[in-house]
Amino acid sequence: MIHLKGIEKTYPSRSGSNPVSALTEVDLEIKAGEIYGIIGRSGAGKSTLLRLVNGLEAPSSGEVWVDEKEISRLGEKDLRLARTKIGIIFQHFNLLWSRTVWENVAFSLEVAGKSKGEIREKVSELLERVGLMDRAHAYPSQLSGGQKQRVGIARALANNPKVLLCDEATSALDPETTASILQLLRDIHRDTGITTLLITHEMSVVKSICQQVAVMDGGRIIEQGRVADVFKNP
Ligand code: ADP
Ligand code: ADP
Repeated sequence: MIHLKGIEKTYPSRSGSNPVSALTEVDLEIKAGEIYGIIGRSGAGKSTLLRLVNGLEAPSSGEVWVDEKEISRLGEKDLRLARTKIGIIFQHFNLLWSRTVWENVAFSLEVAGKSKGEIREKVSELLERVGLMDRAHAYPSQLSGGQKQRVGIARALANNPKVLLCDEATSALDPETTASILQLLRDIHRDTGITTLLITHEMSVVKSICQQVAVMDGGRIIEQGRVADVFKNP
């Protein structure tokens, strides 16, 4: 479902400094239906990798394939279409603050040109799924962190994506809320089989939800495999 082949990513130099090598010799294959974790400390290259998968950045060399399309070679229109197959949730939620929970979820369906009837049905199904139906008319500022992330998850799933990207999705939450959001992601994965790629600096997140893991350091994948094997106790 997601395939990175021989990726190098260098950011151009800024104001005379040397170019930054963010990814080196990255090869990664994520099969349909997997929950795959990428773990590494700050600066390891995780966000860059996610931006490549989402087509926000192009690799300096190598190929990025998502759902059988080479993302880095698509034109603007095809890229926009390919992105509707990818849902993303963010560390800081990225909600529209002037809109209600309902409107935040409806927005991505409106952008996709869905009819009013379809939108109504889908939004209520999604809010039901994330347990927020009773908060449909609240504004993000009236929600707890966990509730905000539930809105983020509902929004990410609105257009029935094939891939769910989680960008430090629980890093702004306390441990109890983190556990409940991870449980929700696990349930959604169980029910839909959506291919899920999660980046995090927290080992506990990977251990609690991922089947496969890649460990990144200094722009390289230094280890990858089944979580149970990679984090095996000696
Ligand atoms: P992580 O998400 O693991 O913290 P990043 O992908 O953000 O890692 O960063 C990897 C490396 O690339 C770091 O050295 C970072 O400073 C650099 N980097 C990231 N984004 C940019 C950018 N837009 N321009 C220049 N350097 C960048
Ligand atoms: P209209 O067709 O008059 O615009 P909508 O059905 O789009 O009416 O809904 C109007 C508002 O009511 C929407 O902005 C939305 O916030 C809210 N809404 C609609 N259906 C529901 C529902 N099932 N549960 C909660 N809020 C809803």
